[in-house]
Amino acid sequence: MSDTSYNAFTDAQKLFDRAADLLDLDQATRDLLRTPQKEFHFSIPVRMDDGKVKIFQGYRVMHNDARGPAKGGIRFHPHETIDTVRALAMWMTWKTAVVDLPLGGGKGGVICDPHNLSPFEQERLCRGWIRQVYKNIGPHLDIPAPEVMTNAQHMLWMLDEYEVISGSRQPGVITGKPVGMGGSLGRAEATGYGVIISLREALKELGIDPSETTASVQGFGNVSQYAIELYQQMGGTVKCVSSWVQDEQNSYSVCKPEGINLEELRSVTDSFGGINISKAVKMGYKMIPGEDWLKQEVDILIPAAIENQITGNNVNDIHKKVKVIAEAANGPTSPEAAKVLDKKDIYTIPDFLANAGGVTCSYFEQVQSNMNYYWEKDEVLSKLDLKMTSAFISVSDFAKTNNLNMRDAAYIISVNRVSQACKDRGWV
Ligand code: NAD
Repeated sequence: MSDTSYNAFTDAQKLFDRAADLLDLDQATRDLLRTPQKEFHFSIPVRMDDGKVKIFQGYRVMHNDARGPAKGGIRFHPHETIDTVRALAMWMTWKTAVVDLPLGGGKGGVICDPHNLSPFEQERLCRGWIRQVYKNIGPHLDIPAPEVMTNAQHMLWMLDEYEVISGSRQPGVITGKPVGMGGSLGRAEATGYGVIISLREALKELGIDPSETTASVQGFGNVSQYAIELYQQMGGTVKCVSSWVQDEQNSYSVCKPEGINLEELRSVTDSFGGINISKAVKMGYKMIPGEDWLKQEVDILIPAAIENQITGNNVNDIHKKVKVIAEAANGPTSPEAAKVLDKKDIYTIPDFLANAGGVTCSYFEQVQSNMNYYWEKDEVLSKLDLKMTSAFISVSDFAKTNNLNMRDAAYIISVNRVSQACKDRGWV
């Protein structure tokens, strides 16, 4: 995130304003949906391993819960800001709506770098986060989940703290839990697989055989690795991936013209998705600058790292061979760049549709937790495929019928569903 002037919430509001104009929304509905319904800002005191207390800044934002309890992850990141959390919470509202889940949108965060925290310090931070928002979350109110740099272990510590305070078992309060401790089989795969299910449908529409395509992927974390796994199973070739190198505060891409070997690269990657570049180079990968993942001569680009990666400054660096962009990350394309992609006729699967597999499986996890009955992995993944495919087809049909691009079509469907729920409840 080198662009310090970037504000994710400003971008999220611009995208919403465009949808509101297309829908001709009334002023009260615009005012309601343009900002979060509730937000909590709090300090989390954590006793560090050296005995000193450090104060961390935490957030929880509930953007909208007209269609059901708010749902959204908790991000641990040194560059976390309240505006990033607000943007991500708003995008969750549109995401749950586009796949037609009975949920709203929320998001949380803590300004911290877990690389620099011991496991005990991370545990105390997770428990501290829950103590601050205990009264404002719950299985029927707001259900957190993992996000960037938080994982199943963090969720289990958070669940445990919630259950200690409430004095009862409440597995439906949080998703992304470890399998065997209330987690759902298939959750780890769900977001990345969902991205590729939507890509598969897009390629079908374009009459392109996936096994004849090549791709370049930004990021090599949870979403990216599982997206690559399913894409390779469909016969696709990934020529390039990039990742963030923590020690250098810089990103690099590693490439192989004949296609990367997923298992090989996983074996030299840390749990945060950081590829050990020198080890990859020894394995025969070519190292190039991080931002060059975008310039590759491939058919498909998959941004799967963070926000604001395809911008007005680099959108024209995209190779003319690129036909499809599957936005795996949240908010990877600035509104300005989105207009250019449209002019270039690059088929873009918008983020909140492409990466909705994660929240869809989180919803399945919540359903299983509330029933205390857990499904086999095949059942989870086939339900995921059904939900993602039908959401994709609804958006694509709407886009074709109304001569819209996929982003505008997805926004109109989602914003319309949410505003209708607000109207039906008598809020506006
Ligand atoms: P992760 O932390 O597991 O991986 C992030 C990856 O991005 C890492 O490989 C990291 O090295 C890389 N990265 C970070 N900054 C980079 C940069 N400037 N250049 C190149 N690489 C960079 O995170 P994740 O869970 O895979 O999430 C990735 C994106 O997908 C985020 O935008 C997240 O909000 C979104 N998302 C995740 C889920 C989910 O279920 N995990 C669901 C929906 C959306």
